Amino acid sequence: MGLVDVQRLKEIVGAENVKDDKADLYVYGSDSSVHQAMPWVVVRPHTTEEVQNVMRYANPRMLPVIARGAGSGMSGQAVPIKGGIVMDFKKMNKILEINLEDTFVRVEPGVVDDDLNRALKPHNVFYPPAPASSRIATIGGEIANNASGVRSVKYGAVRDSILGMKVVMANGDLIHLGAKTRVEATGYQIDRLMVGSEGTLGIIVEATLKFVPIPKFRCLGIAKFNELEDAGNAISEIMSSGIILSMLELMDNIAIKAVNQALDLGLPDVEAILMFEADGMAKEGVDIEVKRMMEICKKHKGFGLELSYDAKERTRIFSGRKKLFPSLSRYKEGYVCTSLADDMAVPYSKMAEMAKKIHEIAKRNNVIMTAYGHCGSGCMHTKILMDPTKKSQWEDAKRAVFEIYSFVRSVGGTTSAEHGIGISKAPAFKREKHESLELMRALKKALDPNNILNPGKLMDAPDDWVTATKLRYTVKLEGK
Ligand SMILES: Cc1cc2nc3c(=O)[nH]c(=O)nc-3n(C[C@H](O)[C@H](O)[C@H](O)COP(=O)(O)OP(=O)(O)OC[C@H]3O[C@@H](n4cnc5c(N)ncnc54)[C@H](O)[C@@H]3O)c2cc1C
Repeated sequence: MGLVDVQRLKEIVGAENVKDDKADLYVYGSDSSVHQAMPWVVVRPHTTEEVQNVMRYANPRMLPVIARGAGSGMSGQAVPIKGGIVMDFKKMNKILEINLEDTFVRVEPGVVDDDLNRALKPHNVFYPPAPASSRIATIGGEIANNASGVRSVKYGAVRDSILGMKVVMANGDLIHLGAKTRVEATGYQIDRLMVGSEGTLGIIVEATLKFVPIPKFRCLGIAKFNELEDAGNAISEIMSSGIILSMLELMDNIAIKAVNQALDLGLPDVEAILMFEADGMAKEGVDIEVKRMMEICKKHKGFGLELSYDAKERTRIFSGRKKLFPSLSRYKEGYVCTSLADDMAVPYSKMAEMAKKIHEIAKRNNVIMTAYGHCGSGCMHTKILMDPTKKSQWEDAKRAVFEIYSFVRSVGGTTSAEHGIGISKAPAFKREKHESLELMRALKKALDPNNILNPGKLMDAPDDWVTATKLRYTVKLEGK
């Protein structure tokens, strides 16, 4: 802490925008992951120039700088494991331009996803990535993480909505990337490099994003299955049949139990539920797509089928899925819901096998795990429910995580579909990307030679983070 000249930072961003008391620092020491580490100081810039000046101060002194949006990242991306200056983007939250003629919007990085969509709605357009955390997640955090959501099967992940951005580099230089046009083929796509960089290559200070028209019709369907495998086969057939769908979500039996218990929704106690949606400007087109999905579900022994165009009814049907994460946190007294291996992607044909594997691995390793996810984009979510106060449970969880990722790799899947790598998923990420780690390190060195941008993450995160980093929980040494 003594390394930072707090007075100098106050001169740059204003005294009221610098926090260094213990209580504030504690809040910025964690995100939505299991990790914890105190920063030395927090700054809240209002302008790009202030960001540049903080970087110009930090870079020659080799002080770590960790960009932070809402801190909703689930893998410890915004946790300052090497200490340093947390740069909170709460105050850079202006929508700078809504350009209806050229169909783009320019925003500061601290704009919250839902706030952007509220501003776009009167114009009948929307910014589509929509992670489940859209109520709090910021555009800067979404880009740095390549977030996605339930409708990404049709509208893509965040990377598919980006036209350009402005980035402050480690030395304080400001660079403009991309363009305001829909296509661009002018050399290296460096804006793409910033996507998923988790704050390790540059600080995003502005983004130009495209938006799309809000569809006039949306129809949501639900089907229940007594066998997980049947639901998996329905997923495979839907995805290979050429249907234009906007959502396909799976919930397994533990997920169903969790929402019933927490919300009293009265969902049937079946092995799996699939929710599917089509949207569009013409009702006839939407009808065709949802009915085709319904037929495929029936063919694979789906029952209890319902369809609804009504917005209220759709919200009711979807409420269990929407509130699943908080429901899982209340599943078992004394247990917490951890995001340790929580968002892998596997080929469509392997979704059912993946879900079954998750259950087997949970049983073998003495933890509770659930399988749910955005099956339309191949993303399978799990959560590990465990007693975080027991050291042995962390060892159980570690083994379970290792087994999950070994399976994911064996079927050609990937470590993270949308939640990013940060600290928790770094060991699996390093195993998966072992051939490109040196290239990543070379890129990092070229852009950030003093290694001040969010150090100790991705390829530089510890291999055994359970022992090498601090956890948010007080862990007792006794056995199971
Ligand atoms: C209940 C819940 C549900 C979720 N559902 C989803 C989901 O459906 N889909 C999904 O993709 N994710 C989901 N997430 C994870 C998370 O919300 C997203 O990854 C989100 O994009 C993170 O945004 P944030 O503003 O909170 O970023 P933070 O957590 O603050 O930061 C994330 C990373 O971005 C970097 N960063 C932040 N701002 C900048 C900037 N201006 N410049 C450079 N780097 C920056 C940080 O350094 C960090 O590495 C969920 C999280 C929760 C808690």
